[in-house]
Amino acid sequence: MSALLNPARTVAELKELRALTGDENGAQRVAFTPMWVKTRHWLKSKLKEQPVETHVDAAGNLWSTLRGESENCLLIGGHMDSVPNGGWLDGCLNVMAGVEILRRINAQYNGKPPVTVRLVDWADEEGARFGKSLFGSSACSGNLDMNEARGLVDKQGIKLPDALKNVGIDFERVKDSGKELKNAAAYLELHIEQGPVLLDLDLPLGAVLGTFGVERHAITFHGQAAHSGSTPMKRRKDAFLAAAKMSSEIYKIAERSGNGVCTIGSCTTKPGIVTSVVEECRITLDQRHLDGPALAKMLQEAKAASEQFAKEGNVKVSWERIWQIDPRPFNDELIALCDESIRETCGQSHRLPSGPLHDAAEVARAGVPTVMMFVQSLHGISHNKIEDTKEEHLELCVTAFDKLAEKAMKFVAERS
Ligand SMILES: [Zn+2]
Repeated sequence: MSALLNPARTVAELKELRALTGDENGAQRVAFTPMWVKTRHWLKSKLKEQPVETHVDAAGNLWSTLRGESENCLLIGGHMDSVPNGGWLDGCLNVMAGVEILRRINAQYNGKPPVTVRLVDWADEEGARFGKSLFGSSACSGNLDMNEARGLVDKQGIKLPDALKNVGIDFERVKDSGKELKNAAAYLELHIEQGPVLLDLDLPLGAVLGTFGVERHAITFHGQAAHSGSTPMKRRKDAFLAAAKMSSEIYKIAERSGNGVCTIGSCTTKPGIVTSVVEECRITLDQRHLDGPALAKMLQEAKAASEQFAKEGNVKVSWERIWQIDPRPFNDELIALCDESIRETCGQSHRLPSGPLHDAAEVARAGVPTVMMFVQSLHGISHNKIEDTKEEHLELCVTAFDKLAEKAMKFVAERS
């Protein structure tokens, strides 16, 4: 198998892509733009060398199919689109590793593998232009909110449906892409980590347990404005004091939760002047956890703490939900296979959750058994031109991901 796989070719192709679609500020493959169309042409030229059937679905996702003995499919996915001034690996590493794996499978099985293998390049994973990520995969999974998406507008005032029309996609029909998931029995996605966990552990690869659930709320404390000179400390109704106590409390809540994270990302005060006690203080809280009940507990603890601090400071508190998404745990069997592939490749593996969402979360949501593999990110940074991974780690991830693909083909065959 190893003689047929050429991970160095994947690295060379990624460099070729960077030269073709990036500039001194980074990758410029924003979805539905001329550069993205050019990227797709380049990808199709790579796929043309193989006996695969390639088409674009109703949502603009590109599918390339190598037909096997069984109609049941192993899916491998990624996204060629990037944010403006993006990194050279985010999304396209997954797709290009998939291209190399298709070559290996095609060569090993003389064009007829035991199960059907399909590579998908999801359209607009990043949501960089219209502010809504996972467009193509959420259309395919059936979860795209059509009313919300219909009204999305970019900075130039162009509506999403019009931008789609320009690249030959009929917005009203995007959910027809759901039929592509027929016969899908497993979904695999490789990705650069976008965080520092593997870097800090000094490990090249990790198996992803799922994507975090998110609770995002605005918390407003209501006190009373009063003169900063004439109001004794013990008579104040200081909304900021209560909000400030939340700051250290969320660290305790996150620590008690095990793997959860909590962030207060913004704080605004009214009247917001130097000579007044704060009348109203609004903070935002973002809480994430892979386990649903643990996430619910973190939220409940934050609510209880806010009420306690409000009571202590003689102020009132109100909560408003901004956004919420459930955790998407990946498939246990596939996680075990991913772990095994990593250990066979580089000795040691690590299991970790994903903080960011990925297309894999939408595929898992559609009920397809799913797993992701992460490769170490050198600076722990993505969505930036400095995003990077050591070349030896890139080659290792293609090798390990290929082993996972082979194991997943057996997983699919057993389910036929
Ligand atoms: Zn990505």
